[in-house]
Amino acid sequence: MTVDVLGRPLRNLRISVTDRCNMRCRYCMPEAEYVWLPRESILTFEEIDRLAGIFVGLGVRKIRLTGGEPLLRHALPTLVRLLRRHEAVRDLALTTNGILLARSAQALREAGLRRVTVSIDTLQPERMVAFARSARHAEVLAGIHAATAAGFDSVKLNTVVIRGYNDDEVLDLLTFARDRGLEVRFIEYMDVGGATDWDQRKVVSQQEILASIAAEHGPVTELHQSGWAPAERFRLADGSTFGVIASTTAPFCRTCDRARLTADGTFLLCLYGERGLDLRELLRTGASDEEIAGRIRDTWSSRTDRGAEVRAALPDRGILHQIDSLRADPRREMHTRGG
Ligand code: SF4
Repeated sequence: MTVDVLGRPLRNLRISVTDRCNMRCRYCMPEAEYVWLPRESILTFEEIDRLAGIFVGLGVRKIRLTGGEPLLRHALPTLVRLLRRHEAVRDLALTTNGILLARSAQALREAGLRRVTVSIDTLQPERMVAFARSARHAEVLAGIHAATAAGFDSVKLNTVVIRGYNDDEVLDLLTFARDRGLEVRFIEYMDVGGATDWDQRKVVSQQEILASIAAEHGPVTELHQSGWAPAERFRLADGSTFGVIASTTAPFCRTCDRARLTADGTFLLCLYGERGLDLRELLRTGASDEEIAGRIRDTWSSRTDRGAEVRAALPDRGILHQIDSLRADPRREMHTRGG
């Protein structure tokens, strides 16, 4: 097992397969223009698979495919089939905005994908137009339906809660998930790279979310679980469960076993991390698997990152990167880091 300076294992790899997206959620891509990663720099499926094999050799047991929007990547089931061959991988999951899910859910399931998480921030189509510049709400609902019908081990929903936008829909989204036997995780608004609209006053804290749910549904029971998953989970009196990811007000960096790989092969140690290791360069200049494994091991072993904790301690917390800084290096953007 490969562990960092704080004893956190390299166990969970989030692979961004594209920096492109077909939505413009205000908490991730609020700007009109973006600098995209050059197409020739995007890793091929074979390169992703080779790197995944190296990471698995170093102890990775969970892989999550992300983006941008991963379903924009053509023939994604082919990559799933490749990754499925790594027998030590216990969990192969995907996070999507759901727009393209209805047409690919079955193929992804047959290719070996185990779990799907769909991001849905509102049940009101007109709000999605205003907030994410997308009129494809019906397709998201169709995607959720198709995923639940496809027979994945689990289908979960993610909702980023923002004051003044969708904080009045927490109960509706909880009911929506519960009525479909799904688990929703409410995510605090994070000041990550790209969130140029972020403001502490727009953050709806875990405490506020729990209070609004308890006011409606009565006492909420916390479910104590192994400490590595980002979401804290809770149960209602009727047995249904939900989660809260409190990265902004109660960060969990001490138990963060997550590494990230951008679509152009940059290995990142933290969502807030400034720089990463260029694995594409190593791949395309003839480095052996052993050499690449050695570089990854050395990089992770010297990891001390606690980005969210450091941000939470700042007296005057503002946005992480100004637009010019994001344009100077698009890898600073959340949509290139895979959230
Ligand atoms: S901020 Fe960085 S160290 Fe903290 S939980 Fe997120 S990725 Fe992990």
